[in-house]
Amino acid sequence: MHEQKGGWQRYAGYITLALMGGLIVLGWRAGIASNVAQVDEPSRPAAVSVADTRSSSDEPAAASAAVDIPVIEDIAFVPAPIPQTFVGRKPEHNFQTYTVERGDTPNGIADQFGIQATTLLGGNPQLSQESSLLQTGVTLVILPIDGVLHDVQPGDTLDSIAEQYGVPVQSIIDYTPNNLEFPYRLYPETQILVPGAVRDVFVWTPPSLESVRGRSSREGSGVTPVIVGTGTFIYPVNSRNFTQYFWYGHPGIDIALGEGTAVVAADTGTVTFAGWNIYGYGNLIVVNHGNGYETFYAHLSGISVVPGQIVYKGNVIGSTGNTGNSSGPHIHFEIRANGVQDNPCFYVGGC
Ligand SMILES: [Zn+2]
Repeated sequence: MHEQKGGWQRYAGYITLALMGGLIVLGWRAGIASNVAQVDEPSRPAAVSVADTRSSSDEPAAASAAVDIPVIEDIAFVPAPIPQTFVGRKPEHNFQTYTVERGDTPNGIADQFGIQATTLLGGNPQLSQESSLLQTGVTLVILPIDGVLHDVQPGDTLDSIAEQYGVPVQSIIDYTPNNLEFPYRLYPETQILVPGAVRDVFVWTPPSLESVRGRSSREGSGVTPVIVGTGTFIYPVNSRNFTQYFWYGHPGIDIALGEGTAVVAADTGTVTFAGWNIYGYGNLIVVNHGNGYETFYAHLSGISVVPGQIVYKGNVIGSTGNTGNSSGPHIHFEIRANGVQDNPCFYVGGC
């Protein structure tokens, strides 16, 4: 028994040693495992932080990327999506305006804003020719630099616009508020500023003397002789109440006076036009002076001459009125030298 007991105790000792050894081994392995776990530990927060980033700030981008990727693969053979979906910015202008005050002149207004008088027409096409709209109370668009505000038409290109105004394409692109960026799409019903451009004004030309002679001939009144004027001019009316002077947008002088006042020929010549003019002059008389000069008398209420008729300096040829593009009784008086509109004030002794 004693020996058996001692034997059991000896076995128990072995078992205890074996268990202890096992525990040591397990503990060692657990230590490795825990070390491995600790090595992995720092990488977990990194993974979590990426997930956090996606789920928070970049949510829309991540969502669209998820949609876009298969689409791009599906349409791999069609052109890249960027040109198809190009949407440029439309022009964003912010112009000053100016309300015309009593006594203002186009040149005076232009000087005030440091622009050319032609630019008043560049920003305000309604000022052209005989519209006579440069009046007290009218509000004008003041372009910030010299040029023309162009209404974009369907089919317009930068090249066509540059050619139309005779300016470099680059100057149109360089004007920042035009918002032009490659591929330079233009939008009808918008306006782009064309720097350095000058708006054309329509110039109506009366029929030539030859055609007047032919017409007179057919009417049986014989060939109208072309008489040569004196070369000096008088005022066609007695009033000196000037309401608009000569400038690029207005090729003559306007003198306000009551309707029905006598209008006289400024010099001797041949009437080349006497009747209604559809381009804003209303009832109009044109006298050709046979020396390169022509005089125009517009907005008349009465005409007392006929084409082909000779008139002498100071003869009454009609009466003042308010016809055509006219906003009050006045005469519009023009002098053309070899077809070019010139300032009548230079010829009638100052204005
Ligand atoms: Zn006028």
